[in-house]
Formats: sequence, structure tokens, C-alpha cells
Amino acid sequence: MSTCIRNTLIIGLGLIGGSLAKALRQNRQYGQIVGYDRDPEETKIGLDSGVVDVAANSLVDAVSDADLIVLAVPVKAMEKVLVDIAPFIRETTLITDVGSTKANVVEAAVRVFSVIPPGFVPGHPIAGSEKSGVAAADSTLFEKHKVILTPLAESSSKAVNVLTHMWESVGAEVLVMTVGKHDEVLAATSHLPHMLAFSLVDTLAQEQDNNTDIFRYAAGGFRDFTRIAGSDPTMWHDICLANKNALLAQLDRYTAGLANLRAAIECGDSETMLGTFTRARAAREHFSRILSGTAYSQLMTNQQVIFRAQPGGSVSGKIRVPGDKSISHRSIMLGSLADGVTEVSGFLEGEDSLATLQAFRDMGVVIEGPDAGNVTIYGVGVNGLKAPPGPLYVGNSGTSMRLLSGLLAAQAFDTELSGDESLTKRPMGRVADPLRLMGAEIETAENGRPPLKIKGGKALKGIHYDMPMASAQVKSCLLLAGIYAEGETSVTEPAPTRDHTERMLNGFGYPVSQNGSTASVKPGNQLHATRIDVPADISSATFFMVAAAITPESDLTIEHVGINPTRIGIINILRLMGANLELLNEREVGGEPVADIRIRYAPLKGIHVPEDQVPLAIDEFPAIFIAAACAEGTTIVTGAEELRVKESDRIQAMVDGLKILGANIEGTEDGAVIEGSELSGGTVESHDDHRIAMAFAVASLRSTGTITVNDCANVATSFPGFVELAQSVGIKVEREEG
Ligand code: NAP
Repeated sequence: MSTCIRNTLIIGLGLIGGSLAKALRQNRQYGQIVGYDRDPEETKIGLDSGVVDVAANSLVDAVSDADLIVLAVPVKAMEKVLVDIAPFIRETTLITDVGSTKANVVEAAVRVFSVIPPGFVPGHPIAGSEKSGVAAADSTLFEKHKVILTPLAESSSKAVNVLTHMWESVGAEVLVMTVGKHDEVLAATSHLPHMLAFSLVDTLAQEQDNNTDIFRYAAGGFRDFTRIAGSDPTMWHDICLANKNALLAQLDRYTAGLANLRAAIECGDSETMLGTFTRARAAREHFSRILSGTAYSQLMTNQQVIFRAQPGGSVSGKIRVPGDKSISHRSIMLGSLADGVTEVSGFLEGEDSLATLQAFRDMGVVIEGPDAGNVTIYGVGVNGLKAPPGPLYVGNSGTSMRLLSGLLAAQAFDTELSGDESLTKRPMGRVADPLRLMGAEIETAENGRPPLKIKGGKALKGIHYDMPMASAQVKSCLLLAGIYAEGETSVTEPAPTRDHTERMLNGFGYPVSQNGSTASVKPGNQLHATRIDVPADISSATFFMVAAAITPESDLTIEHVGINPTRIGIINILRLMGANLELLNEREVGGEPVADIRIRYAPLKGIHVPEDQVPLAIDEFPAIFIAAACAEGTTIVTGAEELRVKESDRIQAMVDGLKILGANIEGTEDGAVIEGSELSGGTVESHDDHRIAMAFAVASLRSTGTITVNDCANVATSFPGFVELAQSVGIKVEREEG
């Protein structure tokens, strides 16, 4: 962008003015950099130290020549400077300032100029230090920092563009907001923390007897927190007066919060204390994710990860794989709605279940953890949720959004459910439509997509819903809404889907009846807190089951695996292929059946996989393809067309990879025909699909050469610690980062 600025004048050569001058002088896009300070000494230091090109002796001359003027004086001095320069400003001159408060600068400008010039755009760089004066000027001060511009109704778009470019040219990111919003935001994020730091240090310093001890023993945390108490007292005095109203409002909120905490400490109210601490601890990370609109998974995929697996080995030992995702979600939801304290262990600390956890925290539920899979939930009862402070952000989790929408449709307060970019493309009409039939009021973006705006205070009525498409999420959403609806809510599914919600409701003592393919709930019951040891995810266990099943001399036990009848296709299929697989120690946890699975090597044979088992094992096919390639004879998979629209086209990905490893395999529309044979080594693509990646790592147990699998970063989202666990049982796989 050509700026047409030949002369830039910085008035006030202190830390901020000097730093900007120095940075602009270095980038050479803003003409000659002229500096002026009321203290000629400062101006001279600026010139001698190369901060400015020219030191102005006469303010009048400098203003008359300037195309761009930056006021970098204390906020209290702004009005006086404006009075001094107003008569000499040319019509085309652009003017901005760097003051930490904005309303008072604008008020001063209104008093000084009869008409605000179109070139005037107030601004504020959110960068600084405790130092002051031109000697502290630092040309990198604004790099990767934010600058807020607060254009006025009179400001021209050209002026806004040029000033935006100016700040960007020194490495800053420019945000635009109104003057009022600026002062409110800054009162909370900068001015209030400075008041706390000043007041805390002052209070402790005035303690008569042991003030030296306090500072002597002060730990790093105290020093970090009070660092800002070293800031310039005069500047902060001015800021307090300039932003008085907004700052007082924030101080009042904070004082009330502190009083609340004090009362909790006084009467030993652990729930309030833990609520404050756990929410605060989670808040920083949560808000960073909202601001970047990302999920953990997306951050991680920037990294190139490959698996390199050496051939051979056998598999033995006792292991536990990560917790089931569906059950982890529901443990948080139902634990929050229960009366009493629910202890959860084995919780999957993945992106999606953490999103659900945060949503309930936002609705006032005190949740401790997760800490090594342990979570403690202080349930608030069916009617105890509170209005969240803002939209509930669920990252990339479709499960959270769909299940929560049912609960939220029945609450007394309004809510908004939002997610990351990829979730924002997924259709929510399949839950919004039947909820509307129950009387819910839900607004969606175009084509039923998120965000969902859900109106509170609606009395829902029970309905009978025949699901047009089998979906556990839709069924769960309606059953959760049914807890609050008048009369019975029942859902009939066209094909069996996962029934974790029904089972866990029963586990919490809330009756759900099941009549054939119809599940129904009635309102008016309570959920009772319980202990949930989240079963290990059978989909994650599958890779190890197949590993032991295909490898001579293997004997592996996988503990505490969920064997929900809607998920055990893999057990049935492996048994049909001749696997030696035992279910030990079968028991029930929170309504869910679990068992330890012991699997020993036995030669596998090819089969035609029964189509009725396909939906019960839909996520397990990448591993089943490996088992088939290591079996004797032909395995035929049909009726599995859904595999083509999973995280990748799983049929194609497995066919391509197995061909590279020398297998005799042909893909079909809805499955594949796989001949058992010896596997060689080779490099295969996972297409960023975690299950494809893990399946090929397991294949190395029967390959004659090294198998390299590309793009394995996503494995960490569903199976954190896969490589370490695989190594611990004897699979010779290494993770390499590129
Ligand atoms: P500073 O280092 O004290 O610099 C201010 C300079 O302006 C001083 O050299 C001062 O001279 C001079 N000055 C005062 N009145 C003047 C006048 N009427 N005419 C010409 N020069 C005058 O302060 P700073 O930290 O750079 O702050 C400058 C502005 O930036 C303030 O409005 C502040 O709110 C804002 N700001 C500061 C920070 C920060 O962290 N420091 C961050 C963002 C924004 P004397 O020394 O003789 O008074």
C-alpha cells in the first residue's frame, strides 16, 4: 500500500512515542519521522539515539508540515496538546493518539475542534512496559501485540485504512471497536488488574510488624502478579480519573466476587471455593480456544507425525485402553443433573468430552478435574442449571451440540451453542426439527447449521418421534428433552443405535423404558449421583485384539472394556474368524456392561462378514481388514458403504495400503474382497485418519519388512498414548515427528 505520507510527527517522545518512531523509522514507509517532546532533552536523546530522523524545535512548524500526527503524551495532557496544534493542522492531515483511555480523549477533541476532522482516528496500542522515557524505546514493542482503533462517526475510511496499515507495518494486529467498548474492555483487562497489584503491594507493605518478611519470602507467583505495580504512578493516576466510571463498575464486580469467596472461606463452603478455582483454572485455556476458533485436534494436525513399525514380535500382557468417548460425555451431563456428588474415573480427556465438561461449568456446575481421568461433579439436580455468561462453545464436538440442544431447549434461560469452523458446517436440523415439534424455539443459521439460539422458558410437550435415520445423538437429545417435557417422550429407531444414554439414565436411577426399538421417558424423576468407572473404548481395544489375534504366541488381556451390545460387532466377527477370545469378569458399571477381554493367538480363517454385524463394528473395519489379510482364505465385506464417508474413504484407504504391502485385495462399492497372504513392508498413507494409522501399525506384527505410515498426528485425539501402549505389549512401532 502506498501511504503518501512524507512527514510523520510523533508528539511526546516517551516509551510509546519513541518505540513507534523507532519502528516506523526502520520500516521507511511513513516518510521522515519527526519527534517533538516538551522536554528538549528527550527530543535530543531521541535524535542522538536514532529514534527519529528529525528533532522538531517548533511544534507549530512541525504540525504544519505533518501528513500524519501521533499524540503519544499522557492522557491528561492530550487536551492541551490538541489546543496547541489545532490551528495548524491541515485538512488532509491524519491524527491519532496512543492514550490508554479513549472517551476522555474524544471528549477533549470535541471541545477543541468545532467539527471533528475526518482524519482523526483515536487508537491505543495494547503493549508497553513498566519503563518510561525515550531511552526505553523499543522498535519491536508492538510486534504480535494488538492495537485498538476506535474510529468516530466523522473518521474517514481512508484515515482508518492508513492507520491500520501503519500499525500493521510495525508488526501489530489491529482491532476496531467503539470508544465505549474500548474503555469497558480495558477497565476489566488492564485497569482493574493494575489496581489490584498496586493495592495488594501497598497493603502488604503497610503491615507494621512483618512487612520485610513478606517481601523476603514472597514466591515467584507474588512477584509475577505484582510486576505491574512497578508501573508509572502518574500515568495510572491519570487513567483512573480518565476511565473512572468503567473502572468503578469493574472494581464493584470484583469486590463482590471477592466478598463471595471470603464468605465461602469463612463458612467452609467448599463447593463455592472449588467452583471459583476450577472455573478460573479452566477459563484461560477455554477462552483462548474460543478466540482462535479451534479445537485441540486442529492445533495438533499442524505437526507431521509418522509411525515406523518394524516387522515381527508378539503381543502379551495386561493393558487398559482410554475411556469410551460417548460414555465420557454422558457421565458429565448426567452427573451434572444428578443430586449429589458423582465421581468419574477413566474419563477420556479428549477434545470433545472436555467441551461438554466446560459447557456444564459455564452453566454453574462445579466440576473438579480432569486429573488422570478422574473427575468429580457436584450435581445441581435436574432443575439446577444456571444461565451461562455467554454462548456455550463446544469446539468440534457434534455430540456435545446435539445432546445439549435437547437439555437446553427445556431450560428457563436462553442459550446459544456455537462451535469451531468445521462444526459450523454440520447440519443440526435433525435435532432442531423434532425439538420444535416438542414446543422448543430454536433459531439456526442457514440450512439448520450452528450456531443454535435456543429460547428459554418454553414448556415442552412429550412427542412420539419416528426417526427417519438411525442416530444415537438424535435419540439421546430427545430423551434428555423428555426429562422436562409434559407427558411421555418416545423415540423409535429404524435400526439399532448406541444406547449409552438410556443405560446411563438408568444407572443414575432415572427410569427409561425400552419396548422393541422404542425408548421412552417420563418427566418428574430425579437422577441420583453415582460412581462411574468409564469403560475402556472397545474401538480403541480393537487394535490390540486384532494384534493378538493375528500374531503367534500372543496372549493379551485388555481390562474393563465396554461390551455394550450395540458395540460388540468386533468380538462377534473375530470369533467367527476363529479367534480365541474370552470375556472375563463380566460386570455392569453405571448401566453399562464391561468385561476384561483375553485374546490368544489362534489361526484366523476368512469369512463373509454377516451384514447384521456391520453397524455394530462400523468403526472397527480398518483393523478387521488387517485381520482378514492375515487370515487363511477369503474374507468378504458387504453392506459397509458408510465406510466411504468416514474421516476418510476407509475402503479405498485400506485397499490402497494393503496393496502396497502386497496383499491381494479388491475394493467394492460397499466393502472389499480380501485374500489372506503374507504382508511385505512399505510406506502407506493414513489420510489423516487415526484408525487407518493404528491398523497399519498393527499389521507390522505379520509383515516381512518395515511399515511406515504417514500423517498419524490425529491418533492423539482418539487414542492418546497409543504408541507407548503398543510398545509396552510388544509392537515395535516408533513415532517420528517431522
Ligand atoms: P512516557 O514514557 O512518560 O512518555 C510521555 C512523554 O510525553 C514524556 O516524554 C512527557 O514528557 C511527554 N509529554 C507530556 N506532556 C507533554 C506535552 N504537553 N507536550 C509534549 N510532550 C509531552 O509515557 P508513555 O508510557 O510513553 O505513555 C504515553 C501515552 O501512551 C500515554 O497516553 C499512555 O496512556 C499511553 N500508553 C502507555 C502504555 C505503557 O505501558 N506505558 C501502553 C499503552 C499506551 P515529561 O517526561 O516531561 O512529562
